[in-house]
Amino acid sequence: MVGVSIFGQSWQLTIINLSLFAFFLTCIYTSIGNSNGKVLWLIFGAFFADYFSSYIGNISLEVYSKGGSVLIWIFFEIVFAFAAMLLLVLAASKILLQKNADYTIVYAFGGIGIFAIVAFLFVFPDNEKIAQMRDIFPLSGLAYLAISFLAQIRKKHCLGYVLIGLLSLSSAIVLLLKLGGITDWVYKTWYLSSILYLLMSFSTLLIKADYFAQKLDESNITIEKNNQRLEEIIKFSPFPIMISKLSDDSIILANTNAIKLFGLSATELERYHLKDFFVDVENRHLLNECLEKEKVVQDFELLVKTPNANTPFWLLVSANIIDYNYDVALYMAFQDITSRKNREALLKNQATRDPLTSLYNRRYFEEEVLKRIVKAKSTNEPFSVLMIDADHFKNVNDTYGHKTGDKVLIELASTCERALRDVDIVARYGGEEFVVFLSGVNAQKGKIVADRLRETISEAVVHSEEGKEVKFTVSIGVSSYEISDNIDTLIKTADEALYKAKENGRNRVEIFNLDDKKEFENKEIQERIKNEESNRHPIFNQEEDAEISLLDGIEGNHIQEQNTKIEENKKETYPILGVDEEDL
Ligand code: GH3
Ligand code: MG
Ligand code: MG
Repeated sequence: MVGVSIFGQSWQLTIINLSLFAFFLTCIYTSIGNSNGKVLWLIFGAFFADYFSSYIGNISLEVYSKGGSVLIWIFFEIVFAFAAMLLLVLAASKILLQKNADYTIVYAFGGIGIFAIVAFLFVFPDNEKIAQMRDIFPLSGLAYLAISFLAQIRKKHCLGYVLIGLLSLSSAIVLLLKLGGITDWVYKTWYLSSILYLLMSFSTLLIKADYFAQKLDESNITIEKNNQRLEEIIKFSPFPIMISKLSDDSIILANTNAIKLFGLSATELERYHLKDFFVDVENRHLLNECLEKEKVVQDFELLVKTPNANTPFWLLVSANIIDYNYDVALYMAFQDITSRKNREALLKNQATRDPLTSLYNRRYFEEEVLKRIVKAKSTNEPFSVLMIDADHFKNVNDTYGHKTGDKVLIELASTCERALRDVDIVARYGGEEFVVFLSGVNAQKGKIVADRLRETISEAVVHSEEGKEVKFTVSIGVSSYEISDNIDTLIKTADEALYKAKENGRNRVEIFNLDDKKEFENKEIQERIKNEESNRHPIFNQEEDAEISLLDGIEGNHIQEQNTKIEENKKETYPILGVDEEDL
């Protein structure tokens, strides 16, 4: 399409060359990552072949003017015009079929072209026909290209294609008019080629934009499909599942199980926020911290509530951060573990509490007091231990029956709990004995507390099965940090003081004094020795003694018995002998 004469005008040629180079650059840019990149290169190749054909045309003119033979130059001019046609046909065919080119069409165009070249150049040389072929070749290629590109109009993003289609169409029309001898002026207007190349560059850029828009559409469709699949999975999951926006906590999606679990309104999900479900804000922060670190959280125990009621319940949560509907979202699958948690609490209770009075049991008391003593020692705080024993409790059982006895123990326990502070630990030590740890209280203050408690207990009343009023008293022994920081010693010494209280008439409080310690320690030593002795195994540890003592007894008797028998036998068997001997 470039006029042959242009090759004689250097600055105009430079502009045309630059436009063609711009087309080349846009082809490079557009073809990167674009599945239609090859087509653009075919088109560029065609335009370049046409340009080159014109260049050879110019050479042939120069050769002709010098009187040389031009046949070979005309041949090459025609061949390049033919190549331009083939490349355009190939590009058009590819774009029309969207994948591989339809080679039947390409071969048909190629066949006719080669036939025409051979026929009119060599067999029946015809200068006029050859001159026409120079335009017919690009014209056919452009016409086919125009049809193929304009057919893309049904596509959603087709601006670039349509523009190339229109450019090809107008170029083909110009060539057609030229063939009809109407628009020879076109070839004299040098800048038209430049405009064509620049518009082609612009069109290829539009194709790139179309490509991006199409990719965006495709990824939107993929996202939409993925979301739909996710929604399906969530909908039919046997677990309650919820998705919330990470930015503002609002609920985006909740399946039927989650709606039921939290008592939500299915049509107004966006009204709810995740924070409405958390009982403990700390718990929420902890979950967020875990998510920030790991992005995925599994088996996280959460205490939650429904937004409308405040009844808390336990859930096991697996959560992770996902992309959902162009938002960063939190995906959470729940499992209701309330009954498991209740069972755990019950078991823990069973392990630490006394079933009759619901007070702590001895084991828990000892474990907890050990910790308290360590703490008290580090802060130099005083503490006391009270040992409480119901007075003549056997009589209560004997007089009113065991059930009333139990009632008394329950009342005793609750009176202790009510009368003492929350920081104090009250436990059932066994039978009708209770033990108390008083934090921050020395022996003197401990005695005051114990006396007040004793008085309160003595005022308590329970009713027997027959409806009779049953009153009861307790004796209390007090020991404290002044005596020892060892839990066993504290209990034993408090028990000693309790024994004293019993001896001194019951319904009273006694302190274990420092003076009592010496005597207590002696007693302890003696008891230990006694224990050590009694702990020796009756057979293995005392085998020798046992053997000796046993043998001593048995053998002794046995030998004695045998000796007597021998003597008797002797007498019976050898009566005369004996006499004889005596006589002798
Ligand atoms: P003391 O004033 O010397 O303490 O006399 P006591 O009768 O309270 O003492 P003793 O140790 O002889 O009797 C304690 C009784 O407490 C014996 C036992 O049957 C009763 N007992 C222990 N545990 C329970 C219980 O759980 N329920 C009931 N009803 N009686 C209990
Ligand atoms: Mg007792
Ligand atoms: Mg008792």
